[in-house]
Amino acid sequence: MKAQQAIVIGASMGGLLAARALSDYYQQVIVLESDTFPNPGKNRKGVPQGHHAHGLLSKGREVLEQLFPGITQELNAQGALSGDSLQQTRWFMNGGYLYQKSPSNLNILFVSRPLLEAQVRKRLLSLPNIKVIENSHVLGLLTTPDHTRIVGVRLIHHRFDGSSESALNADLVVDATGRRSQSPVWLEKLGYEKPQEEQVHVDIGYMTRIYRRRPEHLRGDLGTVISPSLPNYRYGAILAQESDRWVVTIGGYLGDHAPRNEKGFLEFAKSIPPQDIYEVIKDAEPLSELLPYKFPNNQRHHYEKMARFPKDYLVFGDAICSFNPVYGQGMTVAALESLALQNCLAQGGQNLQARFFKEAGKIVDIAWSIAVNNDLHITQVEEIRSLQVRFLNWYMSKLHVAAQRDSLVAIAFLQVSSLMASPYSLMHPRIFLRVLWGNLLHRANVSKFWAPCISGLSGFFHKNK
Ligand SMILES: Cc1cc2nc3c(=O)[nH]c(=O)nc-3n(C[C@H](O)[C@H](O)[C@H](O)COP(=O)(O)OP(=O)(O)OC[C@H]3O[C@@H](n4cnc5c(N)ncnc54)[C@H](O)[C@@H]3O)c2cc1C
Repeated sequence: MKAQQAIVIGASMGGLLAARALSDYYQQVIVLESDTFPNPGKNRKGVPQGHHAHGLLSKGREVLEQLFPGITQELNAQGALSGDSLQQTRWFMNGGYLYQKSPSNLNILFVSRPLLEAQVRKRLLSLPNIKVIENSHVLGLLTTPDHTRIVGVRLIHHRFDGSSESALNADLVVDATGRRSQSPVWLEKLGYEKPQEEQVHVDIGYMTRIYRRRPEHLRGDLGTVISPSLPNYRYGAILAQESDRWVVTIGGYLGDHAPRNEKGFLEFAKSIPPQDIYEVIKDAEPLSELLPYKFPNNQRHHYEKMARFPKDYLVFGDAICSFNPVYGQGMTVAALESLALQNCLAQGGQNLQARFFKEAGKIVDIAWSIAVNNDLHITQVEEIRSLQVRFLNWYMSKLHVAAQRDSLVAIAFLQVSSLMASPYSLMHPRIFLRVLWGNLLHRANVSKFWAPCISGLSGFFHKNK
């Protein structure tokens, strides 16, 4: 028999996806959201990141389709574009593009974040046992007198004619309020320890603008993603969106942020090799103002390690872990957590929190290691690097070189960064040998090119000694 009522706090991608999992196991699921919902496709206050480049990784798209069959087509009908992750998308890393010759069969959905969220909300609301209530800000948790069980929430509901506080009971409460989640504070007030917190400081800055997209831009490709690499670790993305638009985001690490003015923005874009972004925006029509976003650190709460945790309470999405957004993982991790929650609920309510946090922990482990290991290849990011991290970063730089001439290596890399395959798959002898071969070829080519220059230079220095 279905349990009675579940409450989800927060109706962004995390909350909506959590509610989708709960809808199969609870008679009623109520999603409470502080914000007022805007018209589809428009940004809202509670999701300020919605203005900025948002890519849905292939795994996220696949899981979303599983949870809401037909949603990709519905988004395509509203102007979102689907394309191959390699043949129609340029990836620039460590001084070169991934080899684009073969299709990866990894599908990317090019859509703005507000449109994607609005469609997920619409599909969720079409389920008979879902209610989403806007303008409802949760203030705290209701518990049993001994604080061992969460039984509901306290909230303030804002209406045009005033505000009122109330209490709402539930058999399960899920916190999906994002990286500023109050769960650690709420738990401490109830006599629990705060979850162990891990942070990796990156101090990145996004600067974003929307432009009109013309067919000749990027020779018809649907986007370029430029990873932070030498010489300046600046990064950027230009991604197609519905309504013939580009979203362009550029930025840098540790305070090296793009200026919020036309001239400075263009100069910053020009400083990012390979200048795909600059070449498009230097004469494209801007459709928005420049908007900044600052992101201080990768932040993870280890709920799976807590010895005591109240029953009938879960934490979800960015509230567990918020990753450096450059790697575009957050929504896909939330989608995978939704599947994990479904699986846990299918096995009954016994010890749900421990089982869910263990499964969510495994999902987060993979995404965290990809994001943080990548951040640690930037020498200025202050963290201790284990031998393993040093080796992995060295190996990845070699893999990128090989992937610039070998589509099989490029596809293997994209499968991992799209969360479709385990990072260990990149160590498979099949890939390892191709990485070795690719680097040998690269060195041979480089020496062929540089040999005459070097001998010319040495002759010059010899003559001018
Ligand atoms: C700049 C930036 C770019 C990003 N780019 C990507 C990308 O390319 N790809 C990707 O997959 N992910 C990306 N992400 C991450 C992605 O946005 C999140 O992972 C995703 O939104 C899921 O987060 P969430 O729903 O858990 O939290 P959030 O999106 O932060 O949502 C929290 C929600 O809770 C509501 N809320 C907060 N407090 C309360 C309360 N007390 N009561 C009621 N409601 C409350 C808020 O209004 C909001 O709606 C990016 C993030 C940032 C910051």
